[in-house]
Order: sequence, then C-alpha cells, then structure tokens
Amino acid sequence: MRNQTVLISGASIAGPALAYWLNRYGFDVTVVEKAPTLRPGGQAVDFKGRTHRTVLERMGIWPDVVRRQTGKFDTVYLDAAGRELAVMSGEFTGGDVEILRGELTAILYERTVAGCEYRFGDSITALTETADGVRAEFEHGADQTFDLVVAADGIHSRVRRLAFGPERDYVHHLGYYYCVAGAPGWGHDAARRERLTAHAWNAPGRMAARGGSKGSHLYLFASPELTGARGDVATQQRLIAREFAGMGGEVPSMLAELDRLDGFYLDAIAQVQMDGRYTSGRVALLGDAGYGNTLGGFGTGLAVVGAYVLAGELAVADGDHTTAYTRYDEIMRRYAKIAGHSNAGRFMAPKTAWGIRARNWFLGSRAFSLMTKYGDKAANDIDLTDYPALVEARA
Ligand SMILES: Cc1cc2nc3c(=O)[nH]c(=O)nc-3n(C[C@H](O)[C@H](O)[C@H](O)COP(=O)(O)OP(=O)(O)OC[C@H]3O[C@@H](n4cnc5c(N)ncnc54)[C@H](O)[C@@H]3O)c2cc1C
Repeated sequence: MRNQTVLISGASIAGPALAYWLNRYGFDVTVVEKAPTLRPGGQAVDFKGRTHRTVLERMGIWPDVVRRQTGKFDTVYLDAAGRELAVMSGEFTGGDVEILRGELTAILYERTVAGCEYRFGDSITALTETADGVRAEFEHGADQTFDLVVAADGIHSRVRRLAFGPERDYVHHLGYYYCVAGAPGWGHDAARRERLTAHAWNAPGRMAARGGSKGSHLYLFASPELTGARGDVATQQRLIAREFAGMGGEVPSMLAELDRLDGFYLDAIAQVQMDGRYTSGRVALLGDAGYGNTLGGFGTGLAVVGAYVLAGELAVADGDHTTAYTRYDEIMRRYAKIAGHSNAGRFMAPKTAWGIRARNWFLGSRAFSLMTKYGDKAANDIDLTDYPALVEARA
C-alpha cells in the first residue's frame, strides 16, 4: 500500500474517528493535539438517522455511545416573569442519541490509543510538500515527514491555514457570538443525574440559557466581528456581563456566577466554506476544519461520516491519495451541504421582538416538526459504501 504514514492534527471527534479507521486498514497513524491531555466535557453533541448509526455500529461503538448518552432535554423559553413562552424539544436538539463531546472523544481515544501514536501538547507550525511526502515542523517535536496530513483541528484549523490560505478566505462570521460554560462538576454524571430542563430567556439579539445537557450556561448574542474576542477569559466574562446586563428572568443570577464557571469558552458563530474542495496536494480537511458550521446541529455526524469516507476511500485506493481525495471531495461536496444551511444565532436569538414572537410561534407549529424530520432526512443523504466489507473482500 502507498502512503502508509498519516499525520492527523486534532484529537477531538474527527481526528480520533479517522485514526480508528486508518489504523484498522493498516495505516501508520500519528495524532498531534495542542491541548496537554484529552479535552474533557464540553458541549453535548448528537447523532441522528440511520447513516450515523450505521457508521457507529461499524466502528463497534454504538452500544458505548448509547450507554454514555446524556438523555435529552427540552429547552423552555420563559419571559422575565417566568411564564412559559415556547418549548424546543429535546428531539430536535438531541437527535437520536446525545452525548457530551468529551465522552465521545474518550470512547474514540480508548479504541485507538493502542494502535496509534498520540502526541499531546504539540502542534504543527509548518508544512512543506515534496513529491513523495509532507515535511511537518512542530512547536516542540522534531521535524518529520509523513505521506499524508489531515486537518481535524476544528473551525479555526491551523493546518487549513498552512495548506489552503488565511482563515478570512474560508471562515465566514454569521453575525453572532456564543459562549458556553459549566457549573463546577458539570458533566456526564451531573447531566444524567439531574435531568434538567434548560430554561432560556431572550431579548432582541440575545439569548441566555441555563441547565440541560448543553452545558450549564449558554449565551448567544448578535455582534459584528470583535477583535481579540477569543483572548483572555476575564475580558470575555466582562463582555458577556455587558451584553446581557438588563435582561430579566434568571439572567442576573447567571451573570453573578460567571467567574465561578468551569470551561468558559467564547467564539463567533461561523461557517467554513471551501467551495467543494477539501483537499490540496497531500493535505485533506476533515470535520469542522472543512465543513464546520457552529451550532448547525450536524457537525459531529459529519465529522464521523467524513472520517469513515476518507479512510475508506484511502483503503480501497490502496493508499493512492489522488484517487481517494478526488472521491472524498465528490462525496463530501454533496453530503456536507447540510452543514451550510443554518444560522443558529438567528433562530435562537432573533434580532427583533417580533422575530422572537415569530420563532416562539414556529416552535409550536407543525412546520417545526417537519424541520426536525428534514434534519433526519438530510443526515441520511449519502449512499454509504460498505468500506470495511470491500477491504476485507480484497484481503
Ligand atoms: C456549543 C456547541 C454545541 C454543539 N452542539 C452540537 C450538536 O448538538 N450536535 C452536533 O452534531 N454538533 C454540535 N456541535 C459541533 C461539534 O462540537 C463539532 O462539530 C464537532 O466536535 C466536530 O469535531 P472536530 O473534531 O472536527 O473539531 P473540534 O471538536 O473543534 O476539535 C478540534 C480539535 O483540534 C485541536 N486543535 C485545534 N488547533 C490545533 C492545533 N493548532 N494543533 C493541534 N490541535 C489543535 C483542538 O484542541 C480540538 O481538540 C456543537 C458545538 C458547540 C461549540
């Protein structure tokens, strides 16, 4: 087989999922992750429809995912006096099975750590492509040449920047920011034990929610791009306090807790648009790095299906990356379209009082249940090749 050695940047969902398949097909896999250890906790992510389930079953992790799921939680929108205005069902936000991102990462890591090399606390700083490989330079480790490199380092992918060009050419700000943070000790057990319904409050262009499995606090607010917003946590906390000042309901008490929260994370709601090409030379983009859409609802399924397709195409092409990458581009160009349709900010934090009322009405309408069904249909819009069977038949 050609192109035996593969370097993957990022050990969240897409990276370890790809590592799983490549290792199973006989590739030699190294995963580099900038965090010092596996990143625990984080937001809840979900799978919907038979395609996601089929891939997880073929990986042998479906029972684990079901066992470690959060359970689903409705989000109840309240007015300032605590009266119920609308309910967003857990079926919509939680798909068929919902799990904390950190739990899913741990499941994937457990299945790959014995067969792949993980390097934590490091990151690629430069890539130089030659006729027969890609030379990677690292922040800490020695330079090394790999046959192929895969970016699974998220929406702000450094590998995409190195191989395709600056972030501003591919990542489009959707006019909103989000912030997630958890009460200390929040996580899988707390989420399951407490089975909290999330409560949410809106003001034009703003939403604050507390509880549920999406993390203990979630804030969304409309804003043009802010310079330095992904910087220091104290500045971000002041930004949230300022943006949400004056809102009713439990928002003042949420703001009073801000500096006691764990895992505070703030970022723009943004979309990656690659014009249908996720590969360049020997480098491929996978998951949010290639087709991310923050809070779009399909990111995790796309990452897992994308990993299955990329590894499968490489295996059936005997490692010939030009053939495999062309097929991967073709397949994902169509399937990844589901990532690009929505702007969760506009839906969860409409910019006018009228828009908030219309959204609340919509949540109770039949059109909303049709939208949930559309999501399931879109998640299945792929003709899934049985790569493991193909590879086995050829062995
Ligand atoms: C609040 C929130 C709620 C969400 N809810 C859902 C949901 O309900 N359903 C759903 O399907 N999806 C949801 N998502 C999206 C989902 O989390 C992502 O789509 C999914 O995790 C994609 O994974 P990924 O591995 O491609 O990228 P990421 O999860 O972003 O992981 C990227 C990894 O790369 C690492 N990294 C970054 N830069 C470097 C570097 N320079 N060098 C080395 N490593 C690096 C990071 O530390 C991280 O581990 C949600 C996301 C958020 C933020």
